[in-house]
Amino acid sequence: MDFSITADQQALIDQAADFARREIAPHVERFERDECFPRELAERMGELGLLGGTVPEAYGGLGLDYVTLSLLLEELAYHDVTAAVIAGWPSCSLGRPLLLYGTEEQKRDYLTPLCQGRKFGAHAVTEPHSGTDIVRRLETTVRRDGDDYVLNGTKTWISNARNADFFLTYGTLDRSLGMRGICAFIVDAGTPGLAMTPIRNKAGSRSQDTAQLYFEDLRVPSRNRLLPEGQGYRSLMCGTEVGRLACSARATGQIRACLDAAVEYAKQREVFGQPIGRYELVQAKIAGMRVGLETSRLLVRHLAWLLDQGAERAQKEASIAKLHTTETLMQCAQDAYQIHGAYGVAEEYKVGRYFRDAKVMQIYDGANEMHQQIIGEWELGYRQPAAARS
Ligand SMILES: Cc1cc2nc3c(=O)[nH]c(=O)nc-3n(C[C@H](O)[C@H](O)[C@H](O)COP(=O)(O)OP(=O)(O)OC[C@H]3O[C@@H](n4cnc5c(N)ncnc54)[C@H](O)[C@@H]3O)c2cc1C
Repeated sequence: MDFSITADQQALIDQAADFARREIAPHVERFERDECFPRELAERMGELGLLGGTVPEAYGGLGLDYVTLSLLLEELAYHDVTAAVIAGWPSCSLGRPLLLYGTEEQKRDYLTPLCQGRKFGAHAVTEPHSGTDIVRRLETTVRRDGDDYVLNGTKTWISNARNADFFLTYGTLDRSLGMRGICAFIVDAGTPGLAMTPIRNKAGSRSQDTAQLYFEDLRVPSRNRLLPEGQGYRSLMCGTEVGRLACSARATGQIRACLDAAVEYAKQREVFGQPIGRYELVQAKIAGMRVGLETSRLLVRHLAWLLDQGAERAQKEASIAKLHTTETLMQCAQDAYQIHGAYGVAEEYKVGRYFRDAKVMQIYDGANEMHQQIIGEWELGYRQPAAARS
């Protein structure tokens, strides 16, 4: 593995940092209050090429490798997590299924505009009764009716629903078929039978607007089905490791933000006649953040490198990176908050937001207990590479 950053990678990082410093960072508190990342800003990110990610240039993307994608997302997340979430979608759970399994027409109508910031989408998987175990307990039903499919069900916690022009979603033909009953569909916003209610006043990830979606006899033309009937599972899973890479890169960016905020405050706040940074217990917290940043970066780079080598699945490494970076972030955010004393509570000091967002990151992209289970099962030999199973 080569840890050096190339001139092209640095130029992309600098471009993202410059944009985020000027156009995002000064307004984040407003986005938090509005509980929405402005669409115009996301469009601007598209114009600048910050959304194209790993999608090939032929489909409007940047054709980045995964190492470069992770560097970009870390940089954006340093300034604002939601901006990094948006920049990751075309490469992750939303765009990757379209790239791998979409028809040329679907790529033209959804993937290319998604990379260019001309269309936005949402990945609608989670349901009220199932999150972690969604693959086994999908309740949204799918019925074929002539050249259409009819969907009935509810999806919840769906990010970017308000700004979405389309939804990539899933239902089952027959629950008794298990994974082989799952179908994937692209649903255009505004389709009759699709309704939504926003989920407001979240404790964390506030500017990542979320909503509950209702499908009531929602008719989807068969040209909007992704993959053959019953193979939607492949679409559901194909962005998993890349999604965990993106989540880990975002967490790493936020660890860096916690460290910088803590260092700056510890140097200027005086207690008993000296800056609090002079106290060893404060130095220990800051040292922990630096170690956490370095270990997180190494795990993210390793996972990205594995994916760049063409690893079909890097399930264990993705779980290790996701678990470590988000647990480390939670600790760093807690320590940065503590170092700020009462001022940690004040909006202008940001560490309160880092703390609230960190909690959410332990839950989405797979609850961390599930990642512990995956790692443990690999270690115990209860999971095996696909080749060993056949
Ligand atoms: C801000 C935000 C944005 C989101 N955006 C989206 C989106 O865009 N699209 C979408 O489809 N979903 C989205 N989600 C939902 C997210 O994917 C789910 O919250 C996640 O999958 C966990 O599901 P759950 O909340 O139903 O928790 P559950 O599955 O009910 O789990 C609850 C708790 O049980 C424990 N647990 C779970 N599994 C295990 C295990 N194997 N071993 C031990 N303990 C376990 C954990 O403590 C876990 O937190 C979002 C959620 C949030 C908070």
